[in-house]
Amino acid sequence: MSKKVIIIGSGIAGISSSLKLKSYGINSIIVDKGNFIGGRISTREIRNGASSSFFFHGAQFFTAKTHEFKKIISSGINAKYIKEFGSFNPKKYRGNKTMRDFLLNLSKELHIQQKMKIIKIKTDNNRIKVLDDKIEEWTSYDGVISTPPAPQNYQLLNQFPSLQKTLKTGSYHACIALMFTFDEIPLYLNTHYDFYNKPGILSWMACGSDLSVWTAHTNEKFSDLNYHKDKNFLKEKIMSSIERFFFRSKIRFHSLHVWRYAKVAKKCLGPQIDPKYPVSIAGDFLEGPNVEAAFISGNKAAKLIFDRLKN
Ligand SMILES: Cc1cc2nc3c(=O)[nH]c(=O)nc-3n(C[C@H](O)[C@H](O)[C@H](O)COP(=O)(O)OP(=O)(O)OC[C@H]3O[C@@H](n4cnc5c(N)ncnc54)[C@H](O)[C@@H]3O)c2cc1C
Repeated sequence: MSKKVIIIGSGIAGISSSLKLKSYGINSIIVDKGNFIGGRISTREIRNGASSSFFFHGAQFFTAKTHEFKKIISSGINAKYIKEFGSFNPKKYRGNKTMRDFLLNLSKELHIQQKMKIIKIKTDNNRIKVLDDKIEEWTSYDGVISTPPAPQNYQLLNQFPSLQKTLKTGSYHACIALMFTFDEIPLYLNTHYDFYNKPGILSWMACGSDLSVWTAHTNEKFSDLNYHKDKNFLKEKIMSSIERFFFRSKIRFHSLHVWRYAKVAKKCLGPQIDPKYPVSIAGDFLEGPNVEAAFISGNKAAKLIFDRLKN
């Protein structure tokens, strides 16, 4: 089918939309405002001389319950860009060696343009035009799939009130991620520590690509109350929680990242495609607070766009 579709966002929802459209014979271009592929499945590099280590300061792992996502996991394991993480039941997975490797391999036949922000979307007869901040020109497409987190998606879709209505129904928890290293790696160290439902401000702490690089995440209660506060205050609070935990080891602060829209608190309800135009939304906000849910929503958006365009 010689249709031209643009997908906004190179997170897992955007990638799955593009893969699914490809399976229907529709080529698409993914554009993303960030420097790197992956959105909230994010990887940050730290160089130690000639070698590098990688923090995973967004999603730390993914799980697979659905047939569609299990297929992705098993082909990634066979091709060695996904590996099992820890020994959990149900199983958890990570990219091998990094989360970015997972996304780069999964999308290697797709057309992706990073560092390009879409600032407006409008209708033009039966086509859709989008305006970006790079070439600053309106470009015309047969269809659009828009995958930013719901509140950012809402801003883009002011010509599509039924989608805006859907996007208004959900909400997110924030999360503050503190990346750190050790002066000397402690002798006894697990790959992760789970603090869910435990006292304190942390929810989870895990190493990245190796045991020298770590990310600590704050829990929903602390994050929602404090995400807008001064970064030094947040840093001190989280550092003191970690230092208490690794009391004999010297911890070195690396960086702090505040995710305003981290995990879906309440899913969005309503139509996923505009009633008149081939404009669809996709993302975790439609299916649930995790990587697999975002993947599934991308598949659904692609099917909706394909059905609309084939008529
Ligand atoms: C700290 C944290 C920890 C998490 N832990 C886990 C976990 O362990 N396991 C798990 O399964 N899930 C976890 N999640 C949730 C998971 O990361 C998300 O549910 C999933 O990655 C969402 O994917 P998405 O494609 O819907 O959205 P995103 O990944 O947010 O992708 C949207 C993309 O749109 C781009 N964008 C936005 N606006 C524009 C624009 N105007 N123009 C162009 N591009 C734009 C953004 O740059 C972004 O790349 C975590 C999330 C966070 C933040």
